[in-house]
Formats: sequence, structure tokens, C-alpha cells
Amino acid sequence: MTTDLIYHETFTKHMLSPGHPESPKRLKVALERIGSTGLVEGSKVTIVKPEKANLSEVRALHGDDYIQELHAKSEKGGGSFTMDTSANRYTYDAALLAAGGGILAVDRIQDGVSENAYVLCRPPGHHAEHSRAFGFCFINNIAVAAQHLIEKWNLERVLIVDYDAHHGNGTQSAFYSSNRVLYIGLHQDGRTLFPGSGFPNEIGSGKGEGYNVNLAMHPGAGDRSYEMAFQRVVEPIAASFNPEFILVSVGFDGHFNDPLTSLGLTTSGLSTMNAKLHAMARKHSSGRLAFFLEGGYNLDIVGRGSQNLVEQLAGVQITHFEDSHMESENCTVYTKVLLDGMNGMLGGVWKL
Ligand SMILES: [Zn+2]
Repeated sequence: MTTDLIYHETFTKHMLSPGHPESPKRLKVALERIGSTGLVEGSKVTIVKPEKANLSEVRALHGDDYIQELHAKSEKGGGSFTMDTSANRYTYDAALLAAGGGILAVDRIQDGVSENAYVLCRPPGHHAEHSRAFGFCFINNIAVAAQHLIEKWNLERVLIVDYDAHHGNGTQSAFYSSNRVLYIGLHQDGRTLFPGSGFPNEIGSGKGEGYNVNLAMHPGAGDRSYEMAFQRVVEPIAASFNPEFILVSVGFDGHFNDPLTSLGLTTSGLSTMNAKLHAMARKHSSGRLAFFLEGGYNLDIVGRGSQNLVEQLAGVQITHFEDSHMESENCTVYTKVLLDGMNGMLGGVWKL
């Protein structure tokens, strides 16, 4: 079995405003880097072209009026939703293809056709809410895939780990009262970064209480803090939850050289998280694992990070890129306090 790379050329036709950081170039550099590994020619990675998601599957997450509005704006050539989020004539199709890409990825893994997948898509999805486009996102691709796993495949336990630098507000709210989808977000503290949410006390409600975990990282937090967060919170909770499928929202914007954020991860810190998530999938979900591209605005890092991710999924040696960044002692201390606090908040639900 191989690793799927889900990609469609329409993903690069969707454009926000001129000069916008969420640009088609992000996918082009990622494809170039992945191409340089020879994994596609060597048949370890299969490029798979998705079809548009069925509207019935999208409607499980998004309001019909909103979907129609998105369709209408694209039909007439474009239109804006928020200050920084606008559609062009390809946005509706690209968004449905991205959501369809996630569905295809998880179906192929469930069917045993592929082992795991990287959905290399635009537009991203984790900020998209039920009735609004937000934060460069239109349809919540990872949430559509999680819902599909529940409805079509009858899964009881889907884990979503979101390590994009920004809080995945849309994904959180989609499953806030569900105990079938456990959301764990690691992101820069919402007091210092868009979208201003994702605090540790947002733990879910009703049946979903405890099934929403927010690790709000201090600006500057890097490899050391993320390593501690995985060891002390992400891995123990995943072990108790015992997921049947793991979905990951990947953002390369946690890198210390990202222009939009202030975190401190290196390419090797990002790769370490991917390796941990891969190991978690092997241990708990028979290897079932799909990554979805969200953010990342330093083109070099999106390329290198995507290369390392595909290398990880295909089970080959990870290319080492020289970059180093050491988080401050203050950050490490803050993270320890944060993690102690998570214990108090979630210790009743999970063994931490
Ligand atoms: Zn982001």
C-alpha cells in the first residue's frame, strides 16, 4: 500500500486578493519539493485527483444559505466575505474539490487501497464556520471528512489533531458537543493571534465535555514546548480515547520564520510531531491517518514541511533541513504551567 497525495489543479485557480499570503504558490512549491524526492516515480506515493464533494455531505457541516451564497459569488466572478477572505470564480469549485479530496482520502484508507494520505488542498478549511467563510477558509474540509467517517463508516472515535498556528475554531465548533470526534488543538494563544479563541477552558459541552482540548501556546513556543505538550497531554489523551482514525490539520505557520505568527517551531520540530502522530496511528488506529493542509505562509517552509511530511507518511528517511531556533526559558516555564493546568481541567475525563 502507498501514501496518497490528493491534489487537483483547480486548487491553484482559487485566489484571494492580489499579494495575499494564502496564494497558489504554496501548493506549487509543495509539489516541486515532493517531486524532488522521487517517491511518486518510485510508486511509494500516488497522486490522486478528487471529485467535488456531494452537497449533502457539505450540508452536514454548513448551512444551505451560506453554500448558495458562496456558489452565487463564484458564479458572478467573485466577491468578499470578510476583510481578508474573498472568492473568485473558481473558489466554489475548489472548495468542493478540497472537501471531496478529504472524503476520497479517508475512503481509500478505509477501503485498504492506501495506507495514509496528505490532502494538499486550497482553500484550507479549519476556520470555516457553519454559516460563514472566515480566515481564508470556506468549507471545513477536515470536519466534512470526520463527519463522513461517522456517517458512512459508522466510526465511534475520530481524533482530530490541529497543530496549525491558529486555533481551528470551525472544527472545534462543529463537534463541540460530540464525544465521537475528539479535537485537540495546539496553537498560539488566542490573546495574541487570530482568531482570538481556543482557550484551555473551552473543553466541550454535554456529551462532548472533555472532548475538546486547547493547548494555547505562548508566543515563541517551539520544539521543546511542543514535545512536552505531546508527551503530557496529546499522547495520553489519544491513548485513552483509542481513536479508530486520526485526522490532522497541518499548518506550517508554527515555524519560527512564518511571516504571520510568532511561534518557534523548526522544520525538525514539525517533523517530530508528524512522526509522533504516525506512531499514534500505528498504535491505535491500524495506521489510519490523513493530513490536511491548512496554513503556512513562508513558501520555503511550506515546501520543506510538505516534503518531510510525505517522507514520513511513505516511511522513508526524512530529509534534514538546517534551521535552528531555541525557545526562551520563559516559554518553557509558561508551557509547564499550561500543561499543569490542563491536568486540572481534563484530569477528571482523561488519565493525564
Ligand atoms: Zn494558520
